[in-house]
Amino acid sequence: MTDHAHLAPDTLTVAAGRPPREHDSPVNPPIVLSSTFHETVPPTGADRIYARMSNPTWDPFEEALAELEGATLPALVFASGLGAAAAALSLVPTGGTVVIPRHAYGGSISLALAEEGRGRLTVRQVDIAETDQVIKQLDGASMLWLESPTNPMLEVAETHKLTEAAHQKGAVVVVDNTFNTPLVCRPLDYGADVVLHSVTKYLAGHSDVVLGALVTSSEELRTKLQTYRTLHGAISGPFEVWLALRGLRTLALRMERSQANALELAQRLASHPAVQRVRYPGLPQDPGHERATEQLNGYGGVVSIELESREAADALVEGVRLWLPATSLGGVESLAERRRRQPGEPLTVPEALVRLSVGIENVEDLWADLAQALSSTASTR
Ligand SMILES: *Cc1c(COP(=O)(O)O)cnc(C)c1O
Repeated sequence: MTDHAHLAPDTLTVAAGRPPREHDSPVNPPIVLSSTFHETVPPTGADRIYARMSNPTWDPFEEALAELEGATLPALVFASGLGAAAAALSLVPTGGTVVIPRHAYGGSISLALAEEGRGRLTVRQVDIAETDQVIKQLDGASMLWLESPTNPMLEVAETHKLTEAAHQKGAVVVVDNTFNTPLVCRPLDYGADVVLHSVTKYLAGHSDVVLGALVTSSEELRTKLQTYRTLHGAISGPFEVWLALRGLRTLALRMERSQANALELAQRLASHPAVQRVRYPGLPQDPGHERATEQLNGYGGVVSIELESREAADALVEGVRLWLPATSLGGVESLAERRRRQPGEPLTVPEALVRLSVGIENVEDLWADLAQALSSTASTR
């Protein structure tokens, strides 16, 4: 990889993954559409061979993401965040135990529970904010799965302490860093083994791509994960990865605006009469505020609010005009969703909770739209 060690993270998002400087060569990596590659006879040992194994359009993105996460080895792209989660979960040996937050990305929990259902592994779901209880549950575990802040409750874990405890007990630590991005947190720096991204969200950033990635500095783990990817075969096409690198170029600006908007809106929502509770680690009164301030370089762009009733929450999502009523997060456009509309959502998530993914629009327009939609929820009270 190019020596970019001296560059700031926001510079890296722009500078990493560029083609070599050669006369008349492009400044951006091209999309390479080829399923197979010229071989050398005899083989060099570093042959690309076939595009399910590696691909010239994956390389620059994998290099850029590794540099951003502070990894010593290239990242691995997967066809989706959940595809990356499946590969990560494959590191749990058959009969092993994975400790996972009870509030986390729904697909990751469902996948772990499905594997438990097949008898492949055991799942222990924990309240990830309760450090002592999590540490007890780590006895005999093969993997600790961390997500912090959690989806959609935005609880903040003591990630450094939990990682250390997991390692003492011999467990591998996987961190889903989707909500944070490497600009807000770099889990490898505090000792995590594998970092997972749904690239679909902030990294690609425009709600037009589904893509995932894993990052590790362990040769042994990377080889296992790459072998899993090659053999299971559900790889990403070059175009998605090219779009993701294009999106990554503006990550720092998008995160800056999204987080500033999120903090401003969280503050205003906290004093709105129709809002019963705001969950956002950036608010000083939030239970996760102190930990987030200690561990993170920002508070993210997701805010969850609780209204008086499920009807009021539905009325809010129905009443917004600029905000889009949709699931997902991390795109330039602001989205609102009542999470319990999804049948798989944990019952510990309140019925009246609406998750807001705050985009990069003008904050006054976002507020005006929320305020008018909140006033329409009054009739449901
Ligand atoms: C969306 C998401 C995933 C799954 O990623 P896909 O790209 O949708 O497969 C995993 N973790 C988190 C935190 C997510 O938000």
